[in-house]
Amino acid sequence: MDPIAYVNGSFVPLSEAKVSILDRGFLFADGIYEVSAVLDGKLIDNASHLARLQRSLGEIALELPESLERIEEIQKELIARNELTNGTVYLEVTRGADRGRDFAFPKGVRPTLIMFTSAKDIINAPSAKTGVAVITVPDIRWTRRDIKSVALLAQVLAKQAAAEAGAGEAWMIENGLVTEGGSSSAFILTQDDVLVTRHNSNEILPGCTRKAVLKLAEERQLRVEERPFSIAEALSAKEAFATSASLFVQAVISIDGKPVGTGNPGPMTQRLREIYVEFARATAV
Ligand code: PLP
Repeated sequence: MDPIAYVNGSFVPLSEAKVSILDRGFLFADGIYEVSAVLDGKLIDNASHLARLQRSLGEIALELPESLERIEEIQKELIARNELTNGTVYLEVTRGADRGRDFAFPKGVRPTLIMFTSAKDIINAPSAKTGVAVITVPDIRWTRRDIKSVALLAQVLAKQAAAEAGAGEAWMIENGLVTEGGSSSAFILTQDDVLVTRHNSNEILPGCTRKAVLKLAEERQLRVEERPFSIAEALSAKEAFATSASLFVQAVISIDGKPVGTGNPGPMTQRLREIYVEFARATAV
């Protein structure tokens, strides 16, 4: 079956889903995206993703092309039309296609809204059991990383470097401290059992999974510190892990070839993953 995509009001076969070469997403990366996980045909933590979509769009002065309620309806219809059980729904909003290529915002141009789904068994992904190796790269991104912009070239290069090194993720470093992963938030568990992840600011994307995991950890009386950490601190930690919508909680077992903790997924990481999955199932829509 040809997968079904959504493009500006229509559900169409993915192979026929097209936008203009003048679309500002294509010409300027002038757009915002979101990725929500799907478990058993239901959206995970979607309200958090839609709230971040609205915020990111506001930060680039782009109007919501549809109400958040309508966007969720479209996400659900796309899941149903694709008979998607487990995976992700990708959505992107751009400032649309003008008649030429002017940098300043065009007037009277409709934003583009597209969506497509990808199947993925997030719960049973092999790396959920084995954990992943991480490499470090300099963080060469712009200074508004809190906006979920489709301008992802720095992350493309970081993740390609990781792939070439046989690693699953790249942790980006700025001023000697970890900002975040190429497509995930970075956490460590210190030797005295404090969960540490960088505080939200313009230096990182405010991860939806990060937010949920922090709340779940605090509800369970785990000590949490939101502050930057270095690779030296991560290598002396008990455990390390990454969070994202498409991974949930994923153990990090080595950094630049050096083991973290025992070099295996740690018990707290595994427990937080289970707790997150319980939360995800209980709140899915
Ligand atoms: N940080 C970056 C740079 C990301 O690209 C992502 C996800 O794509 C995340 C963090 C994790 O965010 P979330 O948990 O909302 O998927």
